[in-house]
Amino acid sequence: MHRTLADDLFRLPELLQSARDFATAELAGLAERPVARLGQAPARAPLPGDGTGAEGALARFAERWAPGFSGSAGPRYLGFVTGGATPASVTGDWLTSAYDQNLSGAGGSWAAGLERETVAWLRELFGLGAEHSGAFVTGATASNTVGLAIAREWLGERLGVSVSREGAAALGPVDVLSGSPHSSVPKALSVLGIGRDRLRHVPLLPGNREAVNVARLEEALAELDGRPAIVVANAGTVNSVDFDDLRAIAALKDRYDFWLHVDAAFGAFAALSPTHAHLVDGLDAADSVCVDLHKWLNVPYDAAVQFTRRQDLQVAVFHNASPYLGLPAGEPDFLHLTPENSRRLRALPAWFSLVAYGRAGHREIVERNVVLARGLGEGIAAVPGLRLLAPVRLNVVCFTLAEDPTQDRIDALARAVTASGEVFLTPTVYDGVPGLRAAFSNWRTTEADTQRVLDVLAAASAA
Ligand SMILES: *Cc1c(COP(=O)(O)O)cnc(C)c1O
Repeated sequence: MHRTLADDLFRLPELLQSARDFATAELAGLAERPVARLGQAPARAPLPGDGTGAEGALARFAERWAPGFSGSAGPRYLGFVTGGATPASVTGDWLTSAYDQNLSGAGGSWAAGLERETVAWLRELFGLGAEHSGAFVTGATASNTVGLAIAREWLGERLGVSVSREGAAALGPVDVLSGSPHSSVPKALSVLGIGRDRLRHVPLLPGNREAVNVARLEEALAELDGRPAIVVANAGTVNSVDFDDLRAIAALKDRYDFWLHVDAAFGAFAALSPTHAHLVDGLDAADSVCVDLHKWLNVPYDAAVQFTRRQDLQVAVFHNASPYLGLPAGEPDFLHLTPENSRRLRALPAWFSLVAYGRAGHREIVERNVVLARGLGEGIAAVPGLRLLAPVRLNVVCFTLAEDPTQDRIDALARAVTASGEVFLTPTVYDGVPGLRAAFSNWRTTEADTQRVLDVLAAASAA
């Protein structure tokens, strides 16, 4: 064994203690350090010839790179839809690395059973029935891709071809219909050989809505003349967190032949709050469902879950047959369900958080974030230089400058806000108007944080 490696093995307890002390200090300062870092990253260092040992690596990281890391785990990083990491989930994440299990299959370990238990808990949390099976993937993009891959196989089943054997070309042109799909949907269609251009945007409901007009969706389906299609329904759009009427869309399945995929990346968490659960009524009727976990469950990157009612088709797409692994019989191993073969125990952080805080604890996070978003929305509406672009439906505030909201002026506002170090927001375009978004999904955020955000916005928009 190399000398520094042997030395690290000998000093492993102290090493983990050092990492713990460093992480503790970083997390303790999270709320007060600049939320985003703008300066230049250091120039690339040469590949180390002789290693420093892990203590040396920690010291070098602390000196060269840590000062440039964002406060994305903290309470005022409101860009994109960025969750933090609950204390229990960080604990679970550390242990995931310590155990270093390979979740491709059972592999002489109970770890796959833990992933199944976690998936079953999540299914219940989001109100899905036992017909939905699930697996952990890296994020909602991967979850959408897997769901749409199963949809593609289903289209083959309907048309009497096997896509997994013959290729996507065997389907001919595919029709994918959606109202306000996330950008990861066309990306998935590109990966899957269906093609980005096959995505057809169905008109939305009138009156500042991002939800699909179900009557227009029905017309589009009727025009297909019985050709099977894929419908991507959206449960929680990123700008205004609007929800398609899932129940009404699912009801169309009686008359039209389509696979219903629901992108509920963060919207699925409405199910945790009795006042908002109606927004995801009908989710269970979906053929496949995407839910992100590194957003509103507040587990570390990267984690999402993928649910489907057709595990048989999923196995047709993803099975990894080899002489020593064999074809799946009974409950399929995870390597037959997802793009990866080798997989980390991504479920453990979620398992820890669900055990630690339960349904009630996670409901509190969701409901607090919604209250905070509403509060910021009301605050912004009262700032003379700003106006809301959409009503605050759940946890995102989408707003712009009251006067002359050109892209240049919005970019300047975003820069000023980021430079304050107090808050990080991301730009968007809503209904053709450039604006900014503040998305609440971090367990740490409090009313005092919202006030700080509002103060920065009021000052920056007046400048
Ligand atoms: C965030 C998001 C995605 C993509 O999620 P990643 O975790 O970044 O892959 C997909 N759909 C919706 C609605 C999202 O909010």
